[in-house]
Amino acid sequence: MPSNLLSTLSLLGILVAQSCGSPSHPSAFDRSHFSEADTITRDVAIIGGGSGGTYSAICLKDKGKSVLVIEKKGRLGGHTETYIDPATGIPIDIGVQIWHNVSVVTDYFKRFDIPLIVSGSDSNPNITISQGNYDFRTGQPVNVTSPSAAEVSAAFAAYAAQLEKYPELNNGMFLPNPVPEDLVLPFGKFVKKYHLEAAVRTMYQYNPGLGDILTGPTVEQMRVFGLSLVSQLSTGFLTTAHHNNSELYTKATAELLSTSSLLLNSTVTHSIRPSSNSSHSSPTNTTHPIQLLVSTPSGQKLILAKKLLITIPTRPELLTPFSLSPHESHIFSKLINAGYYTSILRTTGIPSTLSLSAAAPSTPYNIPALPGLYGIQPAPVPGLHIAYYGTPLSPSLYTASDAEVRANIIAGIKRVQAANPSVFNATEPEFVVYSSHAPFYLQARARDTQEGFYAEMYALQGERRTWWTGASWRAQDSSDIWRYTAGVVLPGVLEGL
Ligand SMILES: Cc1cc2nc3c(=O)[nH]c(=O)nc-3n(C[C@H](O)[C@H](O)[C@H](O)COP(=O)(O)OP(=O)(O)OC[C@H]3O[C@@H](n4cnc5c(N)ncnc54)[C@H](O)[C@@H]3O)c2cc1C
Repeated sequence: MPSNLLSTLSLLGILVAQSCGSPSHPSAFDRSHFSEADTITRDVAIIGGGSGGTYSAICLKDKGKSVLVIEKKGRLGGHTETYIDPATGIPIDIGVQIWHNVSVVTDYFKRFDIPLIVSGSDSNPNITISQGNYDFRTGQPVNVTSPSAAEVSAAFAAYAAQLEKYPELNNGMFLPNPVPEDLVLPFGKFVKKYHLEAAVRTMYQYNPGLGDILTGPTVEQMRVFGLSLVSQLSTGFLTTAHHNNSELYTKATAELLSTSSLLLNSTVTHSIRPSSNSSHSSPTNTTHPIQLLVSTPSGQKLILAKKLLITIPTRPELLTPFSLSPHESHIFSKLINAGYYTSILRTTGIPSTLSLSAAAPSTPYNIPALPGLYGIQPAPVPGLHIAYYGTPLSPSLYTASDAEVRANIIAGIKRVQAANPSVFNATEPEFVVYSSHAPFYLQARARDTQEGFYAEMYALQGERRTWWTGASWRAQDSSDIWRYTAGVVLPGVLEGL
């Protein structure tokens, strides 16, 4: 059959589906509408090729399973982003920076022959970066009284003692039932209750993008700041020796493309997932009951898979092609999120050896209100600075427009310039790169967590032949995502394959 006729037929299939009011009308998935080349059969289809999706694909492949990663962007890596400075060739990581020194991390990098080092261990001893605290809303410097190292480590010891009460939290959002009051206390109150004040600014700096850390439920802080991360504060985190964290994803891309296991610039438009009361799983599809229509640069494909693994943020607005059941929609619609944004700027007027942290003069722990800058630090290329910006938690998927974020970053820098002419040059800062990571840090409200939200969400694992991983399920932390994926998710995906 000529390919233009095929594509007309497959288009008609979709039109039929839409005109029937059902985005996943079975006729759109009729195999006879697709050429053999456009019909792809795999053990597991994986949606999203960031940290969770790429790790899952490689692990499943290593277990001899066939996979297909469907990634909407033209590259793998998700929140791992590396800008290569064209003049010097120096890589600048503006997304994921560090990992825990644990076997799930070291084994993964070893598999790709990518050397890791302790972060900061190869810093140039001749360059000293000084640090200043500034209120980006006024431009004024802020005098932050830092606790002593002994006070910080005592506070983290006290915090670790609290974490030890909940050992299952090391493996995921496995909360005791009933959920203890402490876990849903606003973190600021938890800090006071257990005298953790000296740890707060460190936690704020290591866990940005979370929203207001003092008003959010304690368990959302513990989710990233678990025992594993706390222990890395003393032993040191790992980073790539080449200071190009995207190296992992460049190598994974080559491997997955060479085995026809990856569709870049591609998205699922419609899907059929079986359910006990669904009429959509026809007997012919019992071995590969997951059916996906995927829009790719080389036309529409039909994907038939035994199982589906979704790794993208689980907001219902982003999951419409997956025909959520009312129960799934009900659960995911309870999630709220913040926004997190990074960028590289030139001509900032900031000295190239000065790193600026956001601070407020009269708030608890000098933590500034959101939305606003977290800080601006020198990039490894002289003359460039990396800015980090966050927005508060909100039920809205996107809490600020990119134009607004860009304008606020520039305004913050200019306020600091204007208020401190002896330190900063008055310039017109320019964006070299800007990247939105919104929606970021999906999480439940305290009330929903107390009512068993996470147990209810985790009970979806494996339902409708669908498994889930990524930050929405574990934490905004790759090491923990990989541990959760390897220990909790993949055993279920592999069962019966
Ligand atoms: C600036 C920044 C710095 C960070 N630093 C660290 C750090 O140092 N260490 C650390 O461990 N963690 C860090 N994180 C947290 C980081 O989010 C996690 O480590 C991890 O990347 C999350 O993995 P994920 O798979 O859930 O999401 P992602 O890595 O974002 O992957 C999701 C992927 O799905 C794709 N996608 C989205 N929608 C669709 C769709 N409809 N169809 C197909 N594909 C889709 C996206 O393009 C993306 O590639 C940082 C995050 C940010 C934003």
